[in-house]
Amino acid sequence: MLFGTHPISTQIGAHVVVNASVPHERCPNCGYYELDAEVAELIEVQAASVVMSEATEPDPKAVRIARKALGMSQAALAQELGLTQETISRYETGALPIVPEYHLALAGLLGREERKRRAGQNTLQLAHTGTEG
Ligand SMILES: [Zn+2]
Repeated sequence: MLFGTHPISTQIGAHVVVNASVPHERCPNCGYYELDAEVAELIEVQAASVVMSEATEPDPKAVRIARKALGMSQAALAQELGLTQETISRYETGALPIVPEYHLALAGLLGREERKRRAGQNTLQLAHTGTEG
């Protein structure tokens, strides 16, 4: 396995999001790789956020994936967005197209989740300040 940065594609419903530079180990012969569960989850949160902020008409399956990436029930998401659980259910089945106001709000929640997860992953600490060495 060789360490490097490689592009990773993430399927979010009908959308494919490419993260151009994910640091990880990969087999140079067959391309096999594994991501830490935490890294894989972060990439899914980021990808769902990109879909919700940039897609004109997010796929209903993407709405469901976005909610699950947030670890929220339909009821919890409904409360967060000021909607009913039934409306969330309709967005996820495609019975009702999600309007920009709400997929952008979902993107905002995903952005917040991404920052929270990144903060949890940050293991760097400033050990020295000054010019001693
Ligand atoms: Zn291999």
